[in-house]
Amino acid sequence: MSSLSPLTMDENLLLMIPGPTFLHPRVLRAMSKPLMPHREQWFSDLFIEQAERMKKVYQTENDLIIFSGSGTSSMDAAVSNVMRPGDKVLCIVSGKFSERFVEIVEAHGGVPVVLKFEWGSPIDPEKVKEKLTPDMKAVSMVHNESSTGVRNDVKPIADIVKDTDALLIVDCISSMGGDDIRVDEWGIDLCVAGSQKCLAVPPGLSFLSISQKAWDVIDERPGYCYYLNVKKYKDDEKKAPYTQSITLTYALKEALDIIFEEGLQNRIERHKNLAEITRSGIKNLGLELFPKSEDICSRTVTAFNAPEQKSEKDIRNTLKNRYNIVIAGGQAHLKGKIMRIGHMGNCQEKDIITTLACLEKALNM
Ligand SMILES: *Cc1c(COP(=O)(O)O)cnc(C)c1O
Repeated sequence: MSSLSPLTMDENLLLMIPGPTFLHPRVLRAMSKPLMPHREQWFSDLFIEQAERMKKVYQTENDLIIFSGSGTSSMDAAVSNVMRPGDKVLCIVSGKFSERFVEIVEAHGGVPVVLKFEWGSPIDPEKVKEKLTPDMKAVSMVHNESSTGVRNDVKPIADIVKDTDALLIVDCISSMGGDDIRVDEWGIDLCVAGSQKCLAVPPGLSFLSISQKAWDVIDERPGYCYYLNVKKYKDDEKKAPYTQSITLTYALKEALDIIFEEGLQNRIERHKNLAEITRSGIKNLGLELFPKSEDICSRTVTAFNAPEQKSEKDIRNTLKNRYNIVIAGGQAHLKGKIMRIGHMGNCQEKDIITTLACLEKALNM
């Protein structure tokens, strides 16, 4: 059995996982430009401009900070900047990534109050309302739970949090740049995204938008953090107090050029269509979607139950070794039970059709 490594892999590998996603050749070329001193004016202009453009993707007027780090660094920043040891945070958990917020709160000495929903099922806003008490500093949730393929409705939760002193933290890492995320309209205080999913930039940049309500908290009672201290980023004239990834900034610029050439609305529509094509293909193969109902299915990753007649590991190995296609398995207790196809970033209809056709072959082999 061959495994993937840069030495053996085919450059035409089809990466159908929920991130990292395959890069546009233009983005690859942009990254081959030489490094320049990062304190030069041209670089800070370039860097600040990309943050401004990211706000359009976020559909927000809030401040937006770019960190060097994977998506989790922004999750960490969102929590640690607004919470102090002993503070309570309501963590809505229905998958692997929403669970991560619990760990982050604990790591910073906070007290997570965990509200669990079965993996694959939607969040019930009524339960959130019942559980939210005035002593809680924040509420955390994941918009697009990549581990289960569920797309959670943010607006009903935001409407509940809005009337309290708590801040709403939402992980949109696997949906930003692919789904319709209305940070301001919905009222997300701290919105987290990462580079390597729908934005189709390599891993290594993360994004965080911060509302005025959140700044008021941070100004009055900041959390304890150093590298990810958002005030340092905001107050820095160049919005980058530490050496930024110059190469990834080139990549981000090119990727945003591509996003705006396509048009954000068209891009959102494309992801929605890809998800529909994937779901109908999966059902046609006689497989069952993992989320409890189709209306809560993600637009960027489709999760489905592994068939009984064949192990999902064997299926994924056939896809990889014979067809050069990589799809994902399940995480945590869903390992071996579900499979996931990512359709985000530069993914096109033909990539889905190819994946589904090869999946059918692999199922019958
Ligand atoms: C990928 C992902 C993360 C983790 O991001 P990293 O870049 O690996 O740190 C967190 N949340 C969701 C929903 C994701 O899909």
